[in-house]
Amino acid sequence: MIPRTHKIAVLPGDGIGPDVVREAIKVLLKIGERFNHRFEVKEALIGGAALDEVGVPLPSETLSLCKTSDAILLGAIGGSKWDNNPPELKPERALLSLRKELGLFANIRPAKIYSPLIDSSTLKSETIHDVDFIVVRELTGGLYYGEPRGIHEADDHKLAVNTMTYSDDEIERIAVVAFDAARKRRKRVCSVDKANVLECSRLWRSVVNEVARRYPDVELTHMYVDNCAMQLIRNPRQFDVIVTENLFGDILSDEAAMLTGSIGMLPSASLGGTVALYEPVHGSAPDIAGQGRANPIAAIASVAMMLRLSLHLVTEADAVEKAIHSALSQGYRTADICGLGESPVSTSTMGGIIVEQI
Ligand code: NAD
Repeated sequence: MIPRTHKIAVLPGDGIGPDVVREAIKVLLKIGERFNHRFEVKEALIGGAALDEVGVPLPSETLSLCKTSDAILLGAIGGSKWDNNPPELKPERALLSLRKELGLFANIRPAKIYSPLIDSSTLKSETIHDVDFIVVRELTGGLYYGEPRGIHEADDHKLAVNTMTYSDDEIERIAVVAFDAARKRRKRVCSVDKANVLECSRLWRSVVNEVARRYPDVELTHMYVDNCAMQLIRNPRQFDVIVTENLFGDILSDEAAMLTGSIGMLPSASLGGTVALYEPVHGSAPDIAGQGRANPIAAIASVAMMLRLSLHLVTEADAVEKAIHSALSQGYRTADICGLGESPVSTSTMGGIIVEQI
């Protein structure tokens, strides 16, 4: 049977972006070979690389390629070379424009402990073993976007204002993302808010309750954000899917990330439009770019998220995650996760070993 072609837009970007994306693509192509899928991988410019080549951070060809693909894999963007550019010509502008153009309102960050790395966390191993949850953060509403906002001079003092707003539509669509994700996992959603104090949270809670009626197979609980911050440290294993608004999610997802050890391990997905974007959480790490020292696991785990969430290839996603686990179990470490007395492997060696495990 001729396999279906999955079109993947690949945006390596700057710094270690190309280093780690190269390994991620090796893994993707191996999955294609092993499971009989065709992946059509097309690369395009973004960020500083695009500025240098064509003078804008998000060329129209890149945007068109993204819009006509089944999923997007991004490396990282940015670097000191472009720090003094005007705001519209900074590499970071590309990512903001891309999210806006593609309507990516939901950010998903998994917090998963690979057991061989359990000692890399700052928490005790008995607290974090088997931790495996995701934070679904609303990305385009709330306090970061609400009007009015600003700093005003009034008589003899200054006044700063930010406004938290949420419409029922915005809450409903992020809740649907969370419940859909939970259906593919352990079927538990914890909605995090501050409904004892904030009207936005009260609307949030009632809309999430409404959405939950459509998902009778998924268990819903509610938790106040201050309690959630504590529970993430006390007993992170209790969570499967956390859904929360923009500011709470910003803070809680970083807290969740620290449970797992190194920034070089963490993937993310931005969803909401017709095409989703997958990228490692880390930046372009100019200090180690092109030296073979970057950990490619975050980018490779982003491929696993892409297989699972955009292409609905769950077995294949599991195979990638198992291969990462297996490489780590055999003791292979890049420099960022290397213990004392261990010798690190290079970016491409780590990628190659993960490919071999599939
Ligand atoms: P960074 O994540 O690039 O690096 C922070 C530290 O972590 C550095 O010491 C780096 O060497 C290390 N590190 C990061 N990824 C690693 C990996 N895969 N393996 C091993 N070590 C890794 O953050 P930064 O230094 O604050 O930012 C550098 C540039 O990246 C800036 O221009 C920033 O704007 C940009 N940035 C881009 C994104 C993105 O593309 N989404 C995100 C964050 C930062």
